Amino acid sequence: MTTVRSGGAGNTSQRFDLHVHSSRSDGTVAPGGLAALAARAGLAGFALTDHDTVAGWDEAAEACAGLGLEFVPGIELSAEVGVQSVHVLGYWMDGADEDLVAECERLRGERERRARAMLDRLDALGVAVDFERVRAIAGDAPIGRPHVAAAMVEAGAVTTPDEAFERYLADGGPAYEPKRALDPVAAVALLRAAGGVAVLAHPGCQDLPETLVERMAAAGLAGVECDHPGHDPAIAAQWFAHAARLNLVPTGASDFHGDRKDAKIGERATSAEMVDNLRWRRVMPPEKGVPVREDSSW
Ligand code: AMP
Ligand code: ZN
Ligand code: FE
Ligand code: FE
Repeated sequence: MTTVRSGGAGNTSQRFDLHVHSSRSDGTVAPGGLAALAARAGLAGFALTDHDTVAGWDEAAEACAGLGLEFVPGIELSAEVGVQSVHVLGYWMDGADEDLVAECERLRGERERRARAMLDRLDALGVAVDFERVRAIAGDAPIGRPHVAAAMVEAGAVTTPDEAFERYLADGGPAYEPKRALDPVAAVALLRAAGGVAVLAHPGCQDLPETLVERMAAAGLAGVECDHPGHDPAIAAQWFAHAARLNLVPTGASDFHGDRKDAKIGERATSAEMVDNLRWRRVMPPEKGVPVREDSSW
């Protein structure tokens, strides 16, 4: 017998998980498998937001179509301020946009350099991890710290990936190496120029200052991820208030990574109404949209 799960008794509201990773970056579930999990969780759709790649879009879109789910094409773009990483989610961009593709390629190379640098730092701290093992764990995906953490567990240097982050890999930690990533404001501009909308990811996890989100809002940021497993209720409430003050769409999402994190797909979500609100904030820049006629009277 199948059970139809809705958001609660009599609740017909449709829910979307707008932050989901696949094995095309540092998640453990293939893009097509995510669609099956999303359907089982009762979601109306989800966004695939792999780190610095859109490689999983086609597979996820096809699987969603087969299950009657809406697929939202997305990305989680790496930006940074100083040694602090800032993650900017993008939705509905043209995945073939030249500037976006070039930045993803640059970030992929940068991630390789940075992984080697982190392994050098680990080596100096007495932890030997082989780069080729990290590369193999990542497969085709851009290398992320969770891949390094997995290799450290394999090598017996730590017992869990969390321990690898706590002792070595967290932002500013002894083995941390920043990416030479975009300024967050430039990331917003890049995503908008590619025809998408930008949403600031989990600002409460890094304790990002309000002034940063204000600068990003001035550059056309569309939303802020207020409800996230890493935000306790007080932090989430603060960010809902900032979103209201800055006229940003508040979103909720699980940041699902398969087995690499505790969060379950759909455990935080965004209503269909808010998804539409976000969608309406797309702007087609003049050079990429329909040209405005010089003789237009309106
Ligand atoms: P990277 O893109 O290489 O900077 O790695 C970012 C990913 O590492 C995030 O998406 C999380 O999955 C994971 N991560 C970051 N900080 C932590 C932490 N303190 N503990 C566990 N995982 C983390
Ligand atoms: Zn991740
Ligand atoms: Fe993130
Ligand atoms: Fe993420």
